[in-house]
Amino acid sequence: MTATDDLNAFKAAARILTWLGATGRLTLPIDLDLVRQMLPDTPLGRGSVIKEPADLTWNASEGALVRNPENENEWGIFVNPRARPERRRFTIAHELGHFILHRPSQSSFLCDKESVYTGIDTLKQIEREADDFASNLLMPGDMLRERIAGKRIDFHLIGDLAKEFGVSLESMSIRIVKYTEQRAMLVYWDHGFLKYRWPSSNARKTCVRLRKTGDPQEPLSGTLAADNTVEQEWDGIDMLAKVWCTSEADEIKLRELKHTYTGGNRVLSLLLLESAAPRPYFRSGWEDDETRDTFDRFVDSGQLPVR
Ligand SMILES: [Zn+2]
Repeated sequence: MTATDDLNAFKAAARILTWLGATGRLTLPIDLDLVRQMLPDTPLGRGSVIKEPADLTWNASEGALVRNPENENEWGIFVNPRARPERRRFTIAHELGHFILHRPSQSSFLCDKESVYTGIDTLKQIEREADDFASNLLMPGDMLRERIAGKRIDFHLIGDLAKEFGVSLESMSIRIVKYTEQRAMLVYWDHGFLKYRWPSSNARKTCVRLRKTGDPQEPLSGTLAADNTVEQEWDGIDMLAKVWCTSEADEIKLRELKHTYTGGNRVLSLLLLESAAPRPYFRSGWEDDETRDTFDRFVDSGQLPVR
């Protein structure tokens, strides 16, 4: 049990943003050092001290939050020094999330990007909560919504926003897909195989489903994702939606965007689909139920698959 039983990741981030706003310090990128220093003066961290983040000296993790064994009120944040600055920011925000939401139940948290997938269920849950906190803190929904209203979504816009908010292109892409009213899906490929896909709410309502190639899923023939001669397509190209999706009628189109990370092994595909009427979910003809169940629980909980 925690001192913050009624608190969740979204509410905790919202309270901090409100406090920053009330003191005229709600600016972008969110000042995590300020947040760390103000927490002990707030109900979310009263009585504790969080030391300035230090470099991790072991390789296995992206970040850690550790209680000082000799002083139970003192906590230290450790971050992978080799990570990119925006990734370090996300990790620090993630560790602050553990501090606020989980510190009564554990005295150390060793975090890596994969624990959201591979840990035991309890571990996955707290990792997702910490990611969700970080996401809500670093990319405040209201500020993001006003920036994307009426704008054409492409990786130029997402890249600009990622810079302004001090987050990775991937984190911002996930957030944009969460907030857009368009039918959209973000697909992340790792070494040629699908690692996750993230549908927008209207894509879910209209049951957008990817055409399966097998398990694990590979890029589909005829898509930019499968075309190794195209590394970047930040504006997107139009194609028939059914090239990607079993769910779409013949006339529906989509715009596919592609971002390839340095090294070429990781690819983000962003699909923006034409609108279609909502429809009920049918249990046959779509992707396998297990995938849907797992993924939808994931989305329903409002968590991010990766950071
Ligand atoms: Zn963690």
